[in-house]
Amino acid sequence: MKALVFHGPKDLRYESFADPKISQDRSLIIQVQKCSICGSDLHMYHGDRIALFDYSKPMAHFCTGHETIGEVVEVGKAVTTHKVGDRILVAGGSGCGLCKRCLKGEINLCEGNTRGQPSTAYGISPGLNGGHAQYMEVPFADTGAAKIPDGVTDEQAILLTDALATGYYGVKMANVKPGDSVAVIGQGPVGLMAAEAALAVGAARVYCIDMQASRLKLAAKFGGIPLTPDQARERIMHDTNGIGVDAVIEAVGVGPTLKQAAMMLRFGGSMSILGILQKGTELPLQIMQAKSLRVHAGIAGIANLWEELIPLVQGGRIKGEGIFTHHLSLSEGAEAFRLFDAREDGVIKTLITP
Ligand SMILES: [Zn+2]
Ligand SMILES: [Zn+2]
Repeated sequence: MKALVFHGPKDLRYESFADPKISQDRSLIIQVQKCSICGSDLHMYHGDRIALFDYSKPMAHFCTGHETIGEVVEVGKAVTTHKVGDRILVAGGSGCGLCKRCLKGEINLCEGNTRGQPSTAYGISPGLNGGHAQYMEVPFADTGAAKIPDGVTDEQAILLTDALATGYYGVKMANVKPGDSVAVIGQGPVGLMAAEAALAVGAARVYCIDMQASRLKLAAKFGGIPLTPDQARERIMHDTNGIGVDAVIEAVGVGPTLKQAAMMLRFGGSMSILGILQKGTELPLQIMQAKSLRVHAGIAGIANLWEELIPLVQGGRIKGEGIFTHHLSLSEGAEAFRLFDAREDGVIKTLITP
């Protein structure tokens, strides 16, 4: 098959790659129909780190991509919920479905890795190839994939594989309640989806903070209050009588924005950190303690969130409209990465067709 293959930082190649095979009974194979690039993929692109993986060091080649939908073309013997011909969305990360944490509905905390099983995100390491390819193996398919539901568009299905689920996870972890004031720092796809989700669950005001005009424009369309970083603190303090917001969702993951998040929260407020943190990123511990803040940093258990999210999408409460600004073919994958990284041409997110 053809795939987009990671050879190293800024070196992605569209080339032939071994066809995926059913490696265990609970796997299936999809023919990829659409896939996209996540902001976190840029950490590979830059040679940074994602969790344990350090992309500045040489590693075996693999297919990138963890936001994928496709048609099932082959199923393993133990797969019960999918059959050949089904169109499915695949969660960006997979849990084993069998361990104590997975059974409790916490697949992001899967113990599988400690048992040597490939329960991790797709397309971030040679351990599990991703969906920037014509075909992809989906291990633990009953746990980490679902039929594309009625009333959900292909673009929304792709958003459900990561950006929307992660944004919503940020909203939940920041403990957003009806009537709350919320700030979302960073209006990339995840931040934008966090803003739309916060409004969907009843936030009264959502301040959307970013430097880029095209992103702020879309944030305003979602019902957010668009602010540049320079405007943000003054406006928020003015609107909240100097108290600060109830919740902040931080979708950048660098020291200055984490500090900004702590500064704009009220005493006792909650922050969730969605940006992928790098080694040495500083947390504003003093402010966190002085203001008794609750802070959560984590990776979403994507498939666990679908039960709540899919009806919100089907009911039109969350639309994700306008997130996909650019459509490219997989053969243009390297260019898609370059464009997304350079933030050229008002790009918010690219949709890729193999
Ligand atoms: Zn992602
Ligand atoms: Zn598990």
